[in-house]
Amino acid sequence: MSELVDVIVVGAGAAGLTAARALTAAGREVVVLEARDRVGGRTLNVEVPDSDSYVEAGGMWVGPGQDRVLGLVRELGFTTFPTHDEGANISDFGGRVRRYQGRIPPLGPLALADIGVAQLMLDRSARRIPLHAPWTAPHARDLDSQTFETWLRKHLRTPTGRAFFRLVTQAVWCAEPEDMSALWAQFYIHSGGGLDSLINTTGGAQQDRVVGGTQRLSITMAEELGERVILRAPVTEIDWRDNKVRVRAGRRQWRARHAVVAVPPPLAHRIRFTPDLPAERAQLLQRLPMGWTIKVNAVYDESFWRAQGLSGQANSDRRALGTVFDAGPPGAGPGVLVGFLEATHAQTAARLSPKARRDAVLDDLAAYFGPKARNPVHYFEQDWASEPFSRGCYGAFATPSTLTRFGPELRRPTGPLHWAGTETATRWAGYIDGAIESGHRAAREILTLR
Ligand SMILES: Cc1cc2nc3c(=O)[nH]c(=O)nc-3n(C[C@H](O)[C@H](O)[C@H](O)COP(=O)(O)OP(=O)(O)OC[C@H]3O[C@@H](n4cnc5c(N)ncnc54)[C@H](O)[C@@H]3O)c2cc1C
Repeated sequence: MSELVDVIVVGAGAAGLTAARALTAAGREVVVLEARDRVGGRTLNVEVPDSDSYVEAGGMWVGPGQDRVLGLVRELGFTTFPTHDEGANISDFGGRVRRYQGRIPPLGPLALADIGVAQLMLDRSARRIPLHAPWTAPHARDLDSQTFETWLRKHLRTPTGRAFFRLVTQAVWCAEPEDMSALWAQFYIHSGGGLDSLINTTGGAQQDRVVGGTQRLSITMAEELGERVILRAPVTEIDWRDNKVRVRAGRRQWRARHAVVAVPPPLAHRIRFTPDLPAERAQLLQRLPMGWTIKVNAVYDESFWRAQGLSGQANSDRRALGTVFDAGPPGAGPGVLVGFLEATHAQTAARLSPKARRDAVLDDLAAYFGPKARNPVHYFEQDWASEPFSRGCYGAFATPSTLTRFGPELRRPTGPLHWAGTETATRWAGYIDGAIESGHRAAREILTLR
């Protein structure tokens, strides 16, 4: 027996839940099928034992210009607090460890000039890319036929400048510059309001955090939706014959007039579709791999680095833990350093035993912040590429020639199937904000059909 609703939503991340909420508000009967035993997808709160505190293992920051997620925060009655951004940052670049204040790392005048010029060119080129159709940019074909690495090699003269942009690429995309199309990189930069907006703490995407953690947004939306959200329901088959939808998850089946598929592209590709997805859609899904991060949270009794005049922010071109931030909770509470093993660093670290990986991470934290950093009270790590229902993060990226050849398929519905997820967003693609945009857009597509 199958159950009949108006719309089946696959995936209870921010995108799927937003779509379900908008459709429910418009009077549609909806069911949300979620593979995991929890909602929130790539956002996840992890409780710190013996405390009322938590760390965030997935998406964590919100920032200016992210109007959709900030709107949702307000609408659901949550508040934000600023990321700790006072004191000196640590730069471990070109073999030299230095403290610095403000946004500009002490990389030497030649490298800084090199980086400044490249950034100007990057931002200028990115601004010329239409967010709804990057493949129509005048220079789209040129950019999409090269990797971001090729572009960087052409536009940067100094080894330190190149190393800086490699670190930026790892930190923003969890990928290496050679993995990714230069068009995708520049679309993404425009989508997030410019490179400074992507990499800055104050004034940028790392500026604020949600009190209670970003996963609470999804948990609250799911609570509103109540029994419409079904957990432990991994969708394995979607039959879309005759412009109707039949979806199977485990032994249960649902029927509907439409489905919203709100899962990361590589996971959509693992669902069996009948009839098979059109070739162009299938090709697109094969060309959007996920990035790779192991996110680490080290919890201490107190934020000892703050007393030493340090912000808790560190970056390095040679350490595996290339970027670190202070991720302490609001007000008094434990000290938390959050660090990221990204791209090839994640791949290498994943091969280590848990103990060897933890030792290596703590060695890096101690090199940045001194011996106290070696002894956290609690240590958490989350390898998103080994998560069966994420397979990587922060999002998928496009390989060369994907956007120009298959980009128009990104959001195009396939019969009764509508595609959501942060990868389909025009603004803040890859972020929670983009996921919310995509959920609203998919719901709108369905609501305007009748
Ligand atoms: C370590 C990390 C750090 C990040 N940092 C930030 C940040 O600071 N700020 C920010 O804005 N963003 C950040 N992001 C990105 C952000 O978390 C994501 O962009 C966003 O959560 C994606 O939402 P989504 O709904 O599109 O996808 P997801 O959250 O991936 O939701 C998809 C859902 O579908 C489910 N699913 C998959 N396959 C199936 C199936 N077959 N059947 C049923 N269900 C299925 C999954 O379990 C999941 O719940 C980060 C992500 C990670 C992992």
